[in-house]
Amino acid sequence: MSKCVFCRIAEKEDNAVVVYDDSSFLAFMDKYPANPGHVLLIPKKHYRGITTMPVDEVGRLYSIAAILARAVKRAIGADGVNLGQSDGRAASQEIFHAHVHVLPRFSGDAPAGRWPRRKEIAEGELRRMGELIRREVQNLPKRLK
Ligand SMILES: [Zn+2]
Repeated sequence: MSKCVFCRIAEKEDNAVVVYDDSSFLAFMDKYPANPGHVLLIPKKHYRGITTMPVDEVGRLYSIAAILARAVKRAIGADGVNLGQSDGRAASQEIFHAHVHVLPRFSGDAPAGRWPRRKEIAEGELRRMGELIRREVQNLPKRLK
């Protein structure tokens, strides 16, 4: 069976603009962002979703999501942030490797209750956004990490 796309990114077999990297988790820029600054956070180990992940790992995943939410908000100057996680086809999960969307939001960017449409983004712009977010992650006070 061929490896899933997020495992390939986690194992550095596929390229991604990485904004956070530790021994167990990786965050990178979504190539089809719903807004500029849209980040995906994954466990490096393959789990189908959070309902098949050990709960303490889910806790760690969300602690990092909280760090990324702060960093993304500051880096992009967003008005708000959505954290999104879909578990199972019925919940519109599309890639069956657990992941959390960290999506910056701007006032009035989509009809109430919806996410903005996904867009193509130039590679250079993706890298520029990634650099801004990576810097914010590094600059966050240690007590928040
Ligand atoms: Zn995987």
